Amino acid sequence: MVLAEELYVSDKQGSDQDGDGTEQNPFKTPLKRWAVISKTQMKNVKKLYHREQTKTDTKDQKEVKIYQLEPLREQRVKVFGWVHRLRRQGKNLLFIVLRDGTGFLQCVLTDKLCQCYNGLVLSTESTVALYGTVKPVPEGKQAPGGHELHCDFWEMIGLAPAGGADNLLNEESDVDVQLNNRHMMIRGENVSKILRVRSTVTQCFRDHFFSRGYYEITPPTLVQTQVEGGSTLFKLDYFGEQAYLTQSSQLYLETCLPALGDTFCIAQSYRAEQSRTRRHLSEYTHIEAECPFMSYEDLLNRLEDLVCDVVDRVLKSPAAALLYDINPDFKPPKRPFKRMNYTEAIEWLKEHDIKKDDGTYYEFGEVCAPLHLNINIMNIVCFCVSLWGQVDVLMPNVGEIVGGSMRIWDADELLEGYKREGIDPTPYYWYTDQRKFGSCPHGGYGLGLERFLTWLLNRHHIRDVCLYPRFIQRCRP
Ligand code: ATP
Ligand code: MN
Repeated sequence: MVLAEELYVSDKQGSDQDGDGTEQNPFKTPLKRWAVISKTQMKNVKKLYHREQTKTDTKDQKEVKIYQLEPLREQRVKVFGWVHRLRRQGKNLLFIVLRDGTGFLQCVLTDKLCQCYNGLVLSTESTVALYGTVKPVPEGKQAPGGHELHCDFWEMIGLAPAGGADNLLNEESDVDVQLNNRHMMIRGENVSKILRVRSTVTQCFRDHFFSRGYYEITPPTLVQTQVEGGSTLFKLDYFGEQAYLTQSSQLYLETCLPALGDTFCIAQSYRAEQSRTRRHLSEYTHIEAECPFMSYEDLLNRLEDLVCDVVDRVLKSPAAALLYDINPDFKPPKRPFKRMNYTEAIEWLKEHDIKKDDGTYYEFGEVCAPLHLNINIMNIVCFCVSLWGQVDVLMPNVGEIVGGSMRIWDADELLEGYKREGIDPTPYYWYTDQRKFGSCPHGGYGLGLERFLTWLLNRHHIRDVCLYPRFIQRCRP
């Protein structure tokens, strides 16, 4: 059909289907006009078609995590993640280091992929979906995993403010600013490494106990009885009754012995510690165990086994590399641990010229606790055994990481104990019952997971190994 230069349209009589634009046979609307497609139009149509194609390509594209990429080199993949680092080189080149929690991936975006609007506004900490082919990096170049993603398409998922997290904090920020922005800090390489090690270490503790035949329990942390002194109790109103946040799950573990035998738990404990020290938290993860029919010697051996076996497991795990990244000089402890009784510890301090803050030596009768403060000059793992059937495991740099003891198992002795401490035995009836219904010599211990990690990772401050540390005047985020 040849179109006349002048087109006739008629809203009433015309038809876009049957009309031909003549006066006799008008179109309904002026829209209906055919012409040979122009070059620009063709280009646009092709572009649209290509975009549609990629869309369907991307729909079926398998999504993979960064840690799975090595065997997928030379294949097209789709990766979700956060923009960890961003570098623009000229107008046509954009380097992204993508982070997805499983690893880091260098990605290259070229031409239109970085010249588009999203490419121009992209900021660190934004979330994106990247599509492309994984290629080994050229000789002499370095990238995480030894490969990089050559993008052919990408989508913005969540745009972060310009500058990413840099507006909230940086390496030089004040400690309190860093703690207020801990939710951003944990995205950083160092803190996330620590959290990853912490996850593995927790698993290794569990594996240790399971391999030794223990059962795990999850005791309540809202309690009406106390284990340690009242001065570090967090009190709370429990539907009109006085209750506390637990300081230790020891008492509940003891009740499990007749039911489950060797038992452990990994639960939160709370201490209203008034002082700011680098090894005290007000909430911490307490790894506790109790064992029936156990001697004092058994207790010491089990503690040695616990520490050495867990370290062994960590070093055999993929987290070992992270551990050495953080603490390159780490040396696993050697068995046997040095065993010192209380008297020997006092002598040891004198021999090593370690004095109290007031410049005098520790004397017999003073609680072992001050020992911990000075243990950082010691390079050895050490048991400090007190006169009272208690044992502490002391580590270089952090001091006490475990407190353990043989428990009172005689009913009368326990009742005496309540009286001596001025404790009303009434709410402890269930604990006392353990001594009436088939008592047995038993013992157990509590290990602070954060203290263990502080030692393992050689951190100065215990708060470094916490997700959101809790200590005096700090209860957020
Ligand atoms: P410390 O004398 O160091 O204050 P403690 O003797 O009061 O400790 P225990 O009641 O024996 O501690 O608790 C057992 C373990 O729990 C300790 O060896 C330690 O690893 C951990 N722990 C105790 N209190 C804290 C705390 N405030 N913050 C972090 N860990 C703690
Ligand atoms: Mn202790």
